[in-house]
Amino acid sequence: MKICIWCRKDETQESFDKKAHTIPQSLGGKNICENVCDKCNHYFGSPQPNLPSSELVLKEMLNISKYYLLKTANSIPKNKRYKSEYFNINWNTFHIKIKPRYSLKDGFQKKLGRQFRKAMFKVFLEERERQRNDALADRFNFIREFARYDLGNYPIYIHIPKFKVILGSLPDIENPQIRFTDHSDEMDKEFRIYGYQLLGHNFLIPTSPFFDELCRDDFLKYLVKDNHPFGTTIKRIDYAENIDYTFRYIAD
Ligand SMILES: [Zn+2]
Repeated sequence: MKICIWCRKDETQESFDKKAHTIPQSLGGKNICENVCDKCNHYFGSPQPNLPSSELVLKEMLNISKYYLLKTANSIPKNKRYKSEYFNINWNTFHIKIKPRYSLKDGFQKKLGRQFRKAMFKVFLEERERQRNDALADRFNFIREFARYDLGNYPIYIHIPKFKVILGSLPDIENPQIRFTDHSDEMDKEFRIYGYQLLGHNFLIPTSPFFDELCRDDFLKYLVKDNHPFGTTIKRIDYAENIDYTFRYIAD
């Protein structure tokens, strides 16, 4: 019997006919989470009042990085151009700007940032279910509330890179994946954080609503002590522009 990891309804209450891609297909995601009902699946792909869907925001923002990485690897398929509803991109200078009709809207950047964070949590929980089959645990309730019901507000971080290199293989750029490993279990247990490598970025998402209060200081100390290869400092993502989509730190 399937139970939806978002609304907890089962097959007697909701239909489960549509395929729920964990990472959007439009970003190259191939994995499916079986335990997502059609209603919740539809929610993630639907715009909300004056706001694009979280799936579209994730796609638009990370496709910039994907396009950049494929371009530097000379792997852009013929006839493929990056198109965006929200961003203007100069592919010679790699500068990105939100299109004027959106940038003038009050608080739009912040709303994009929030939708992006919700989408990152959504991918996390669906992959968690697919790989570990324990997404219904109560400790993930805050992710359900935030990603699915738009309640509360939870941070996402990104490593500030230490080295001028981009880690990641071509297959992972074409078909992005996140992985749960012994190491990620350890980080989860010790610091309530999940290291989330996606399209050349090293994101971090809290696995507890109390990460900031209870674990962040210890985690930052650990990064320094470990001289962590992804970087010993982290940055909070509040706005769409907080992410260095085109890896300008390499050129700087
Ligand atoms: Zn559901």
